[in-house]
Amino acid sequence: MKENICTIPVNEIFEVNDGCPICRMRNIIEAKYIDYITGPAMMEPDIRIETNRAGFCERHYGMMLTSGRARLPVALTLESHLIDVREKLLAKKPDKKTLDAIQTLENSCFVCEYIEPHLTRYIETICLSYRDDAEFRRLYEGQPYICLSHYRMLVQNGKKPLGREYDRFVEITRNLTRRYADSLQNDIAAFRDAFDYKNAGKPLAPEARTSIERTIEYLTARPCGDKSESGQ
Ligand SMILES: [Zn+2]
Ligand SMILES: [Zn+2]
Repeated sequence: MKENICTIPVNEIFEVNDGCPICRMRNIIEAKYIDYITGPAMMEPDIRIETNRAGFCERHYGMMLTSGRARLPVALTLESHLIDVREKLLAKKPDKKTLDAIQTLENSCFVCEYIEPHLTRYIETICLSYRDDAEFRRLYEGQPYICLSHYRMLVQNGKKPLGREYDRFVEITRNLTRRYADSLQNDIAAFRDAFDYKNAGKPLAPEARTSIERTIEYLTARPCGDKSESGQ
């Protein structure tokens, strides 16, 4: 069962003005799916086949352990995954096929595989709302910024749903992404200047103090140092 386990009202996400709205949306999808996968779903045979095949990335293993659920379902999933790894990848002398399979496993994650297509579908909904709903356009254009990778996703997936509105949408979105990069660069420069002997003893502005973490979040679509928070 990999169908949509959560519906998110797009307008509600955009009524908030705090960071990248697509990151907020991703955080909700992610947290709900972690909740789902650490619940009874973990015992379903078809889910087990999939978690054995894909495994999880470090981030999502971390979230499974901090989601507040019991650790037993995680242990059962790991046990089953280990059996699969031993049988399929370690039972005989390594050949190219086996090593390729290990490398594929290193780069796959059951939760990441769920998030990507669902987020793309929500991005299509965002684009349709932008095309048809003036109030939503106002909310979209009032966002503080769009992070770099979600800028890429919006531009890549917007052409079909937006039609004639696409060029305007791209320009607005690029402005949201670029303007924030401008302000981050200023804040980073202010941080760097604070180390100049001429500025010794001067207080550091709050924007400069947080500039490194905020820039990393903008560039990676994840809060700096965050491995397990849902970010909601
Ligand atoms: Zn983002
Ligand atoms: Zn993952």
